[in-house]
Amino acid sequence: MKIDEYRKKRNFGVTPEPRGGGKAQKTGNGSFIYAVQKHMASHLHYDFRLEWRGVLLSWAVPKGPSLDPSVKRLAMQTEDHPVEYADFEGVIPAGQYGAGTVMLWDRGTWQPESPDVDASLQAGEIKFTLQGRKLQGAWVLVRTRGFGSNPGRSAWLLIKHRDQYASTKDMTQEEPRSVASQRLLADIARDGGGDAEKASMGDPAGKGNRPGSAKSLHAVRRKRTL
Ligand code: MN
Repeated sequence: MKIDEYRKKRNFGVTPEPRGGGKAQKTGNGSFIYAVQKHMASHLHYDFRLEWRGVLLSWAVPKGPSLDPSVKRLAMQTEDHPVEYADFEGVIPAGQYGAGTVMLWDRGTWQPESPDVDASLQAGEIKFTLQGRKLQGAWVLVRTRGFGSNPGRSAWLLIKHRDQYASTKDMTQEEPRSVASQRLLADIARDGGGDAEKASMGDPAGKGNRPGSAKSLHAVRRKRTL
């Protein structure tokens, strides 16, 4: 029921995105699915998703997460997504909601510090730990005042807590590839018949777009896993 808004915005006869409604995957032990999708739509952003009560709570982070505890990243809450979305990577066709290229940038599990996530959502402060391929350790999402009054569209800040995973390393620049396929945005767009030129604007300059570079890396990885 919570994903009504998600479904209303999309035409599942056209977009390859999942409709949702399957059984929520059981992760157990008080840990839940965590995913970040790098999304080159009208503007580049990182969709930060945390599984809770059978859906993915979602925030759009324009600049992406930062490992530096002194950096606060704006995170606009967006509609809940189905849990199946945590595996989606591909091209959303032109004219559809969110049209553009989606990369599975990070994937793993998360654990809320307090088991009552509903209360944390209500209070506007969610403390949690990430066990992702790229992001780990302690984080917090804090709701801010002033940005819109719609409760489903509130502005939050995503902040790294100080721990051994805190760093000044810029993950968005230094770890730009998909954790699912090792592809860059331009590769995903090209493979899915999307706008590779626009997608490449979301890839770090100089790391992509060398003819064949990402493709061959992808091929090497595929060979290894076959
Ligand atoms: Mn998005």
